[in-house]
Amino acid sequence: ERSDERERLVSGAKVVAQALKTQDVNYMFGIVGIPVTEIALAAQELGIRYIGMRNEQAACYAASAVGYLTGRPGVCLVVSGPGLIHALGGMANANMNCWPLIVIGGSSERSQETMGAFQEFPQVEACRLYSKFSARPSSIEAIPSIIEKAVRSSIYGRPGACYVDIPADFVNLQVNVNSIRYVECCMPPPVSMAESSAVCMAASVIRNAKQPLLIIGKGAAYARAEENIRKLVEQCKLPFLPTPMGKGVIPDNHPNCVGAARSRALQFADVIVLFGARLNWILHFGLPPRYQPDVKFIQVDICAEELGNNVRPAVSLLGDINAVTKQLLEQFDKTPWQYPPESKWWKILREKMKSNEALSKEFAFKKSLPMNYYTVFYHIQEQLPRDCFVVSEGANTMDIGRTVLQNYLPRHRLDAGTFGTMGVGLGFAIASALVAKDRNPGQQVICVEGDSAFGFSGMEVETICRYNLPIILLVVNNNGIYQGFDTDTWKEMLKFGDATIVAPPMCLLPHSHYEHVMIAFGGKGYFVQTPEELQKSLRQSLADTTKPSLINIMIEPQAMRKAQDFHWLTRSNM
Ligand code: ADP
Ligand code: MG
Repeated sequence: ERSDERERLVSGAKVVAQALKTQDVNYMFGIVGIPVTEIALAAQELGIRYIGMRNEQAACYAASAVGYLTGRPGVCLVVSGPGLIHALGGMANANMNCWPLIVIGGSSERSQETMGAFQEFPQVEACRLYSKFSARPSSIEAIPSIIEKAVRSSIYGRPGACYVDIPADFVNLQVNVNSIRYVECCMPPPVSMAESSAVCMAASVIRNAKQPLLIIGKGAAYARAEENIRKLVEQCKLPFLPTPMGKGVIPDNHPNCVGAARSRALQFADVIVLFGARLNWILHFGLPPRYQPDVKFIQVDICAEELGNNVRPAVSLLGDINAVTKQLLEQFDKTPWQYPPESKWWKILREKMKSNEALSKEFAFKKSLPMNYYTVFYHIQEQLPRDCFVVSEGANTMDIGRTVLQNYLPRHRLDAGTFGTMGVGLGFAIASALVAKDRNPGQQVICVEGDSAFGFSGMEVETICRYNLPIILLVVNNNGIYQGFDTDTWKEMLKFGDATIVAPPMCLLPHSHYEHVMIAFGGKGYFVQTPEELQKSLRQSLADTTKPSLINIMIEPQAMRKAQDFHWLTRSNM
């Protein structure tokens, strides 16, 4: 009779895990400790993959990338107080990127609230700024419905981060199983379509465009609109420009991709259709001098509040990108239309692309050592597997790398994103590798990091080695932030005083052997200084998939990007 009684009890930790499992949540990243260890154990018991990370921030980045890649949120599990606070960076980044994410934070005992409990902090309030939804269940019985609401909120409408607070006293409290009702898995997000009159008007604005341009953002990638957007591009023969993470929705080597003439395309287009891309800093706010003052924007977005930001759109198409693109295609099926391939606009774009490509080739083929960015990326691109994930962060490393490294598949590029966050790379790489392992074994992850960017989450190399993930880390090392100094200059500088006084704040220790971080945990490390060494080590890393590797690539510490048309706004404007 007694054992029956025990079987009918369930802990708060198990209820959290079961509620997540019921909502089809499959990945949990975190760091265990008081009071959440039991939640991680219970989740793992139910078949949720648990990935123990070394810093909550990286764990949160990883969980958010799972949301972007799979359309189902990953969980970041953190301890109270400082654990939760470390995760705020990841929540903010996810929310800014419009990526779904669930953060579950343990919190101090309710009976000690306001008494100065261990790691006490107003967690629900703290998360509000970084999330769409932040709540604490009022009882163990309320956990399933709050978790269902969090998961649903994270993927409905504009995706984003959600927080659920679990007080320590819930975790081990046992309640009667029969008192718990698990809420059914929430339905996939309902699909919304644009008003049909607006769709007609959009089609007519496009038909009358002299210099049209489609911009494909990461919203289009998230919406899985690749098939329909590609149809639209090919049927209407329109030039398109991907944003950094919109790369790959249509392959970068598609003949209609005008990525290599980005500034020119933005500056002279007279009609621009935005598929899931905001007119924020990445797109220079949609304003002159980067655009024509009278350019007509057609905005496609799932978020009504986004429509009209910074620029008054010619047409607003409120709805799901995939559905709205289908609506547009119907218009062009009814009355077929093509943008003339021999137009002056195509000629302008093609010429600019050719000259930009020639210029970056010229840099790439420079024989001088240390290597420059273009040489490095050219050799990486030569060997890049077509289906690999490309994760990248850094300043020049990311900006220049994006122009050379090609994406052929949607949702296969992850970078510093809308928030320009440094430190996301290793977490994103870990998430990509896990998703690849489950969905497409054999697929590799190439993570291209600046030396400074690598430092933010460098200890996650241990995580990579512990789970033996198919990740190749490339550290593009210029001994500094933006720019650094060579060893001789560094030594010379120190003659004038202590480094805290004389070393420019951009400096990092020259000639650092980051590859030893990988070697320390059993992976393979390479230190390369020439194109030949780079080629060889990359070939070996790609061939030997039994171990992760790190290639530390020394480049010219003062290497810069080629001259830009708009030098006063140098970021992401090539
Ligand atoms: P990028 O950085 O690539 O320019 P942004 O993150 O600025 O992209 O913009 C993405 C936009 O996509 C957001 O405004 C978001 O509301 C929107 N979005 C996300 N999912 C969908 C969807 N399924 N349908 C339509 N819009 C979406
Ligand atoms: Mg650097």
